[in-house]
Amino acid sequence: MAPHREEDRHAFYAGKSQPSGSAGTFETIDPSTGQSAGTIHISSAGSIDKAIQSAQSAFPSWSATPPIERTRILQRAVALLREKNDELAKIETLDTGKPFSETSTVDIVTGADVLEYFANLVSSGGLNGESFRLRPTAWVYTSKEPLGVCAAIGAWNYPIQIALWKSAPCLAAGNCMVYKPSEFTPLHAQYLASIYKEAGVPDGVFNVVYGAGDVGARLTSHPAIAKVSFTGQVSTGKKVAGSAAGGMKYVTMELGGKSPLVVLPDADVDQAVDGAMLANFFSTGQVCTNGTRVFVPRSMKAEFERILLGKIQYVRAGDLHDPATNFGPLSSKAHYEKVLSYIRHGADVDKAKMLCGGPRQPANLPQSLKQGYWVEPTVFTDCTDDMKIVKEEIFGPVMSILPYDTVEEAVKRANTTELGLAAGVFGKDVNECHRVVGQLEAGITWVNTWGESPAEMAVGGWKQSGLGVENGRRGLEAWVRNKSTLVEMGGSVPTVFSKL
Ligand code: NDP
Repeated sequence: MAPHREEDRHAFYAGKSQPSGSAGTFETIDPSTGQSAGTIHISSAGSIDKAIQSAQSAFPSWSATPPIERTRILQRAVALLREKNDELAKIETLDTGKPFSETSTVDIVTGADVLEYFANLVSSGGLNGESFRLRPTAWVYTSKEPLGVCAAIGAWNYPIQIALWKSAPCLAAGNCMVYKPSEFTPLHAQYLASIYKEAGVPDGVFNVVYGAGDVGARLTSHPAIAKVSFTGQVSTGKKVAGSAAGGMKYVTMELGGKSPLVVLPDADVDQAVDGAMLANFFSTGQVCTNGTRVFVPRSMKAEFERILLGKIQYVRAGDLHDPATNFGPLSSKAHYEKVLSYIRHGADVDKAKMLCGGPRQPANLPQSLKQGYWVEPTVFTDCTDDMKIVKEEIFGPVMSILPYDTVEEAVKRANTTELGLAAGVFGKDVNECHRVVGQLEAGITWVNTWGESPAEMAVGGWKQSGLGVENGRRGLEAWVRNKSTLVEMGGSVPTVFSKL
């Protein structure tokens, strides 16, 4: 059977796909087979400018639309997303290599939830300002005003979820958006644009451009862009934030992590192993909040490893549409090579002890998948803080076990990193869990669980892992600016320039 190919992708603005203005093409690859899944036309400078102009034209009317009317439109998009869940999940599986068991239950669902949340929030007072009496004759009132045309730049790991986490609060608050998906996973963007259109989002409110970093850079430096919301690596985030700062633009930066998972001495070992596996192998380790530094009490280490080795067989690679498959390939050839080089470095240079896995494909992969970017779930143990595999974000299925002797030592070591995206603890004594989690330097933390990020929960990194938050009530604030108005009702204007 010939591999499935999607129709060509062109920039989408003014409410439709715009087949002119391409600056060349590239192929998007199905990472499970290494085969092309579609041709993407790179947006030329001219078509990027037109996409921005289309957003500028749509802004006055969309921003003036009462929030409750915007809500009705966005709720229709939520319904369409849920109705088309499986169709969209198949596209995400094709583009990212994630198993359908995952994309059909997480990627679209968590995106639609956030759109529903922000749509509801703006129609139920989320955009209300405050008013107060300053003195008997004067009042102050404030309003939350949309920013204008915003740029969103996505990473490749959660394509449609990232597009929705950015566009939901952006559009709900009355802004317009130009979105650039990652060149590695661009297929979802046109589906999302079509869903917004079908739901009744006016032409020009949501636009898409395609290409690599230079297309993103043109967006971030464009004078008509009021805000840049970025998800990606720390190094790219610094460039993007620098460029945006030059134009005094608002930014939200969702960047990388090297998050600690601290297993406390009283933890249920079985539960802690389940948590650590979730925090390292879900989405083949390609999750920004992964808990890749697993701190385990030295006295518990042998049992932790024994249980982990017993459970590793439940990580099942294979046909991505088999409901039993829960582990896919890495999302691109370049990323596959990067992850393999980290695994080799861990074994050969860091000299970490490899408990399982290694730089090879999982056993029993069907012949048809052997050209894909598959790697075994890999665990290193007896790791030390100075190892490269412990210090750097690998973004693959590579767990490092770090034995510790005292909780104070574990906390100190957990915080010895420039990154601060996520952290978590496992333990039976909830007071102790709270005490320890309170000391961990990260913006997203969990107790006795890992990874859940519901629409209601604001998430964002500390230290080098980012600026600002997405989701939750605070997430809306990132898409509005404050306007304060003082009204004097005393009947005379106070002035120092009165006649003596
Ligand atoms: P990258 O930083 O490589 O790319 C992110 C996006 O930025 C891509 O669309 C990329 O284009 C674009 N880009 C590259 N250079 C520039 C530039 N100079 N100006 C503007 N845009 C540019 O990240 P990855 O795609 O590799 O994503 C993985 C990273 O994302 C990991 O570090 C992960 O931790 C992080 N991440 C963070 C999350 C969070 O919420 N904190 C969530 C998910 C991921 P292209 O790639 O198309 O060339």
